[in-house]
Amino acid sequence: MKLFENTEVAFASKTDADLERAYFLFRLIANQPLVRIGTNIAQFALKSHLPVEGLIRATVFDHFCSGTSAEESVKVVNLLAKQNVYAVLDYSVEGAKAEISLDDCLTNIIATIKLSATSENIPFTVFKPTGFGHPELYIKKSKQEELTQAEEEAWERIRNRFIRCCDVAQQHNMKLLVDAEESWLQPAINLLVEEMMSIYNKKEALIHTTAQLYIKDKLNYLHYLGEKAKEQNFIAGIKLVRGAYMEKEAERAKQLNYPNPICSSKKDTDENFDAAWRYMLDNLDHFSLYFGSHNEESTYAIMDELAKRKIAKDHPHIWFGQLYGMSDHISFNLAKAGFKVSKYLPFGPVKDVLPYLIRRAEENTSVEGQTVRELELIQKERKRRKLN
Ligand SMILES: Cc1cc2nc3c(=O)[nH]c(=O)nc-3n(C[C@H](O)[C@H](O)[C@H](O)COP(=O)(O)OP(=O)(O)OC[C@H]3O[C@@H](n4cnc5c(N)ncnc54)[C@H](O)[C@@H]3O)c2cc1C
Repeated sequence: MKLFENTEVAFASKTDADLERAYFLFRLIANQPLVRIGTNIAQFALKSHLPVEGLIRATVFDHFCSGTSAEESVKVVNLLAKQNVYAVLDYSVEGAKAEISLDDCLTNIIATIKLSATSENIPFTVFKPTGFGHPELYIKKSKQEELTQAEEEAWERIRNRFIRCCDVAQQHNMKLLVDAEESWLQPAINLLVEEMMSIYNKKEALIHTTAQLYIKDKLNYLHYLGEKAKEQNFIAGIKLVRGAYMEKEAERAKQLNYPNPICSSKKDTDENFDAAWRYMLDNLDHFSLYFGSHNEESTYAIMDELAKRKIAKDHPHIWFGQLYGMSDHISFNLAKAGFKVSKYLPFGPVKDVLPYLIRRAEENTSVEGQTVRELELIQKERKRRKLN
């Protein structure tokens, strides 16, 4: 039996009732029109203050989120720890616009870092750059347009939020993952994260940027970063992912009439992704790799390569990551085999986490084969439990 086929390990933390809920949920998610209608109704109902929070909580929220607060998430952290899987508390409230919300977001992330530091089972905290600044400002900075005095000041406030966050992380010996968003914001985000890495990553990789390998020239960026890390003597922390905003990227490129930056096929993205982690393994003194993927083939490929190169499974520069509620067969089996694995645990008030939940539902509907695979594994485990 191949490693990820072991459903007993994969679903050990799920009760029969949890398993039934997951089965029900993935069957719903497999139905594209239903997801579209369901998300519209949920958005409308929450905006209109209709009493649907309980229903959302009992279904999709409890499957994909660890709670409404970091404190509430601790019980999921402990559950994962029983199977040697680490947690990454992910404050998943999106779309803050006012300065006060941006500062609130910083306060929340700092509180999350401090809480995470009290548990040896939470090695990372994560944040989204748009939690700390307006998308419009990232766009303007990315295009290297001249900023007004007020914008310069707002940019400095974003930079200070990054610095504050990194300072607290360093004081608490907590690693940070900076999520990647749309490509038109990324050059400005890169500026900030590169500056932070060159300061905070001298001895170990504390700060991690995210590289989306569905972007055609992202491999070149990694080469540039590798050279910079060597020259300036720091370790480049990279969360490697394929990328989540493919449709949005294509739409904007078409609308504004510029070439789509995304690889022209899944195969090209896969090749880019594989070339990226191989390049990082070639330069492991200057890179720390957080391998964020639900793709079994890629995960088997890197496991084989690590074995071939005799790189220890628990090498400090190698981490694997999946999202809570997805690909448990990869997470728990990898951890059992001795690799370092963590799950993103999104948390926040139900109505604020809704955009995240909608993306998960849509992603599972559109990522070919993913939901089918989840259903297949849940079915297998249901049968195994019945036989026992
Ligand atoms: C722990 C973790 C953290 C993450 N953080 C981020 C983040 O910060 N930012 C972010 O953007 N995403 C993030 N993601 C999501 C990630 O980018 C992917 O969308 C998701 O994981 C699916 O890719 P995969 O490697 O798991 O699986 P696969 O199913 O093998 O790949 C699906 C992906 O392939 C690419 N793809 C599919 N079809 C095509 C096509 N026709 N042409 C070109 N490319 C194609 C797309 O990127 C698609 O999402 C994260 C995922 C994980 C597990």
